Amino acid sequence: MSLSVINPRTGEADYTIEPLAGSDIAALARRLREAQPSWSALEPYDRAKHLHGLADAIGRHRQVLIDALTADTGRAGLSAIEVDTTIRTLLRWAQTAPELIRRQQSSGNPTAIPSITTSTRLAPYGLVGVISPWNFPLILALIDAIPALAAGCAVLIKPSEVTPRFIRPLMRAIAEIPAVAGVLSIVEGDGRTGAAMIELVDFVAFTGSVATGRKVAENAARAFIPASLELGGKDPMLVLASADPLKAADTALRASVLNTGQACQSIERVYVARDIAEPFLAALVEKAQRVRLNYPDVRAGDIGPFILQKQAQIVQAQLDDAIAKGARVLTGGRVEVLGGGHYLRPTVIVDVTPDMAVMTEETFGPVIPVTVFDTADQAVAHANAGLYGLSAAVLAGSIEEAEAVAARVCAGGVSINDGSLTGLVWETEKSSFGVSGLGPSRMGESGLLRFFRKQVLIRQSGAPLPLSAYSEDVVTAEK
Ligand code: NAD
Repeated sequence: MSLSVINPRTGEADYTIEPLAGSDIAALARRLREAQPSWSALEPYDRAKHLHGLADAIGRHRQVLIDALTADTGRAGLSAIEVDTTIRTLLRWAQTAPELIRRQQSSGNPTAIPSITTSTRLAPYGLVGVISPWNFPLILALIDAIPALAAGCAVLIKPSEVTPRFIRPLMRAIAEIPAVAGVLSIVEGDGRTGAAMIELVDFVAFTGSVATGRKVAENAARAFIPASLELGGKDPMLVLASADPLKAADTALRASVLNTGQACQSIERVYVARDIAEPFLAALVEKAQRVRLNYPDVRAGDIGPFILQKQAQIVQAQLDDAIAKGARVLTGGRVEVLGGGHYLRPTVIVDVTPDMAVMTEETFGPVIPVTVFDTADQAVAHANAGLYGLSAAVLAGSIEEAEAVAARVCAGGVSINDGSLTGLVWETEKSSFGVSGLGPSRMGESGLLRFFRKQVLIRQSGAPLPLSAYSEDVVTAEK
């Protein structure tokens, strides 16, 4: 049955997707599994060459992909950045994976028993399932798929039903590299397709909300497969008294409203030291008021509409709840419908309290609740309130002062004197704390290595021990 897709700029259903029937998904999974052994038998350098080829193919389809993503998301500049980031991600793994795989495999390793040595081999999972969200549709569909391919797995991707227009052009680019096309496929569909996939794969890499992540984890446990979960956040930013309030306002604004706040690593709570709260807030409000909507021209402006119109309602409900409980709106505060799209200008609110949904639940919109604190201990306690622990930020007059506070914040990645750096940095591993995720890091070497099981070959070059070596008399005598 076809599913219609809403255009975020017009509010009209102008696209349809065709989810596969369950039996067709199973047949596709079988086809990918059949192709996987020859893919994993290739030398890592040869797989890397094919990934390089895919980067070139995506480059040839660059404009069509940007146009599709722009229609999916209602913003153009970040769509171009997404395509270029995807190409760079392919090239990066093509360059680094072969050496990383080589370093993990070894033979002739000594053990405590002189006649026994070991060899370690990496055995890739056969078929990896990727389920991805709508906020950065292309890069999040491929961020786990690329290292899984580099590892020698086959990959089946199910992107969000909210933003599926990029799938067909991407499949055309993939088709230009037959070796990759044999082991990589992307299916259209909603949560039902995602749920059906979990029963067909050997590993699931999921990016999305905590609520869905929990269901995916439960289903993965039932299917007895590992689940790598990258979920939501409620990231705090701490602005210490020694920070420059004007620069801090710039950083807080960008880190909160980029992509209309629809980023997992968006700053969603700001805590500022009383000494600099006044100039900080004045600058934040002034800068927030200068942010332009990309309406009516998608190629002019700073932020776009909500990608999912339901998200606009969630954000408005959080704001209404906060206002009803005593919060004050300094700027923004009301979703506007322009040409059928739902927009929210950057919204700064104060007098917020921990019982407000805007302080505890993920907002995923351009909303900046600001709380004043008196001591660093208070700031850390505020930051560590709540269930999430994806990332955070600390701004101070010196790196050392910020780092000392950052080390006390319960989050997997803490930006020092900047915000949302976890969206830019891929080299270093990080865990998700709290309900923000489970499983090995997607960043750093484990981004690739999590797609392997380790196999040890244990070589006996001496004479195997007879049963008599374990007999009661011998063991007792030696004691
Ligand atoms: P979502 O959980 O609603 O959907 C994510 C994907 O799961 C979609 O493809 C959806 O079709 C699929 N799905 C829904 N029900 C399913 C089920 N029962 N079984 C399997 N798959 C199912 O999330 P969303 O609204 O698309 O994305 C926004 C969320 O993603 C936010 O919470 C955001 O913070 C999070 N996110 C996290 C990261 C990260 O790296 N930690 C990155 C981006 C987004």
